[in-house]
Amino acid sequence: METVRIDLKGEIDNSYNIFIDFGLFDKLSDDLKDKPSANSYAIITDSNITKVYGEKLVKDFQNKNLHAHLIAFPAGEKNKSRKTKERIENEMLKLALGRDTCIIALGGGVVGDVAGFVAATYMRGVPYIQVPTTLLAMADSSIGGKVGVDTSQAKNVIGAFYQPKKVIIDLNFLRTLPKNELINGLAEIIKHALIKDKDFFHFLEKNIDKILKYDLEILKRAIKRSCEIKASVAIQDEKEKGLRRILNYGHTIGHAIESALNYKISHGNAIAIGMSYAAKLSAKLGYLHEGSAIRQNNLLEYIGLPYRLSHHKLKPKKILEHIEYDKKIINEKLNFVLLKSIGDVVISDKVTLDNIKEILEED
Ligand code: ADP
Ligand code: ZN
Repeated sequence: METVRIDLKGEIDNSYNIFIDFGLFDKLSDDLKDKPSANSYAIITDSNITKVYGEKLVKDFQNKNLHAHLIAFPAGEKNKSRKTKERIENEMLKLALGRDTCIIALGGGVVGDVAGFVAATYMRGVPYIQVPTTLLAMADSSIGGKVGVDTSQAKNVIGAFYQPKKVIIDLNFLRTLPKNELINGLAEIIKHALIKDKDFFHFLEKNIDKILKYDLEILKRAIKRSCEIKASVAIQDEKEKGLRRILNYGHTIGHAIESALNYKISHGNAIAIGMSYAAKLSAKLGYLHEGSAIRQNNLLEYIGLPYRLSHHKLKPKKILEHIEYDKKIINEKLNFVLLKSIGDVVISDKVTLDNIKEILEED
């Protein structure tokens, strides 16, 4: 088993481990029986995962005489909402689940974000465990404690920083993950390589065919490296005051695309487009060698990730409106993450909306 440690020793010790291996899901009920995290468990999942994995998990728990309930909500990013959070909370209250409850977030990024946010506020905070089932959640969203929901205007704007007790990554989940979801998660893995680790980017280029064929040993290595990169950044800046913003590479334009399309595009696809323009802009502003921008975009294209607005019939004007809105509500300068070379980024507050407009219109 691989372990990645997240060391967060502030006023309160929020440290935890990420465990990565095959078969951890089957052992979860045993582990919790040996070392209970609570008196009762609320397994929160979505409508697809419930049948494939959720019902099995609740049975495992009950067979071990652990007090567990399964709570499922309709799958999809459009349900990552305050309404879903409220419904889950109502259900938990109806079940009379108290402060001694531990939430198990079983699912992709959507489940992890909603369930983690429920955990952050239910009875002023109950413990939770992330059990990510998509590549995106394993390599990115289940780590670092950012939890929350979307509104119709903007993504992830209602939420909290709330760390899980542990993250359990079982590679076997990937066996049932549809190809488009695998590709979706690869966008964040590539992002981690681009911002921090040139050798990892080479590794991904070299092994991309194996990855696309679900080579789970290669995927295990990619997930582990991705977790390490995310962890190293999150450890240094738990609440995103500075450094952690480098994780937003490709996300300024990417988030605007998602809200402009009313979340009908997957997050990975949106940030792939965002990264492609971010790299072009980095080259145009003289930060990045043009060949590196091309190299990045070639990998995205090879995988089948979109890299142009026109792939989704989007107009630059609409994207700019959403970027401007995001900026306004965050009440900040536009902190744009630019690529300096493959494996290195810089956060710039000098990028203007006009710069972005120009690059979007060049398409
Ligand atoms: P993300 O992880 O990208 O944020 P979601 O949480 O919406 O995305 O998950 C994407 C879709 O994949 C959802 O419909 C979800 O039910 C489904 N899903 C999640 N994990 C698995 C899995 N291991 N096998 C099959 N389908 C899965
Ligand atoms: Zn992201």
